[in-house]
Amino acid sequence: MTCVKPEGAASRTTGQNRLDYNSLDAMTPRNPGAVPKSARNGQRVKAADVAPDGVYLPNNNVLTPHMRSPDYVQLSTAAAITLGIMAGKMYRCSCTRCLNLLLTYPEGCRANCAYCGLARHREAERDYADRNFIRVDWPAVPVERIVDIVHDQGADTPLHRMCISMITHPRSEDDTFSVLARWTAKINPETVPVSILSNPTTMSRADVEKLKDMGSDIFTVALDAATPELFDRTRGKGVQSPHSWAKYWKILEDARDIFGTKKFGAHIIVGMGESEFEVLRLVQQLVDMGGHSHMFCFFPERGSLMDHLPATPRDQWRRVQLGRYLIDYCDVRVEQMSFDDVGRVVDFALPSGELDAIIDAGIAFRTSGCPGKFREDVSACDRPYGDSPPSNIASYPFQPAASDVRKIRHQLDMERPGEAYEDGDEFELTND
Ligand code: SF4
Repeated sequence: MTCVKPEGAASRTTGQNRLDYNSLDAMTPRNPGAVPKSARNGQRVKAADVAPDGVYLPNNNVLTPHMRSPDYVQLSTAAAITLGIMAGKMYRCSCTRCLNLLLTYPEGCRANCAYCGLARHREAERDYADRNFIRVDWPAVPVERIVDIVHDQGADTPLHRMCISMITHPRSEDDTFSVLARWTAKINPETVPVSILSNPTTMSRADVEKLKDMGSDIFTVALDAATPELFDRTRGKGVQSPHSWAKYWKILEDARDIFGTKKFGAHIIVGMGESEFEVLRLVQQLVDMGGHSHMFCFFPERGSLMDHLPATPRDQWRRVQLGRYLIDYCDVRVEQMSFDDVGRVVDFALPSGELDAIIDAGIAFRTSGCPGKFREDVSACDRPYGDSPPSNIASYPFQPAASDVRKIRHQLDMERPGEAYEDGDEFELTND
């Protein structure tokens, strides 16, 4: 058994560009179109000024109510199902362990990130609270209602963590403080620890300190892009967006100083044009700082400036997932791994027996994020299918079963003799 992909071997899961990785050239975003004046800054919603009445489920056919943080937040469909706010079932998941709360305003996020469904250029077609984000709708719910539900669950809550996601908006910091204060007034952060997914562009070091003092446990920065060039192309000047790599790193370093080892991290999206070496080098840099990486597979979000581009081929994604796990949890260093001339991993720097055991354990291929209560390397953030459809799972929101591991091995081109994956195996049974 070898983890070396033979040179010239055909990929079984190639992307639309016929490569087994998304190259920089292939991943150019569209330019944002002009937004009519009448649709800018949430004007439709503000002019109509319809008072909100409890939960709002995204619906592009009705006039969106005038909802604002800190009174309102949006939450993932998975969290809404878990809390009983929405009816529904999730494929092979009974609940989500992380409650993601997203600040909300009629003006929405003022940034224009190319891969994001919440980006500013979408003002032309959808009011903010109706936009899809990481593949699903996000209902808007009064903060007090969410807090009361979790408070009533007490120690029986299924939640392992709550996360406030900031967006780019002038009120983002103050409203994050306010939502956090409303939460901790009724819920012990020891029972449900709090993470902050920050918006560095509008933040200062004092804001980071305040969030720590108010009881948040982990602070993360959504770098998303793995290199400065890619960051600028997808989140900065390339798409008329205000973010800068330097400011993101400044706040990340502040978080390291203030929150401390293993209490800060960065989000990275894989497959936007960086090489596997570049992303794993970044993972190593974060580990060397004392932090963690939280990794997502690029998926072309409907309505975004990258919705015409291919999702990350599973070959590339699995190699990076495995490499990230080895660096984050197994003391392997990126310098010990080998890469080919386009930066693909060709050797993971572990004896094959050890590598086999890690692959078979399946944890490396689960959703990644801040830890929950099961074990350090199992994320609380198991929101399902944020980076893929259930029919071709990128990040497993549950422990992969034997048939899932066979599929993963197939995607890695590391199948065991006599254990070949057959298309659809994982849909046959889920308790193997
Ligand atoms: S700052 Fe965040 S929410 Fe706003 S457009 Fe960028 S990725 Fe989306």
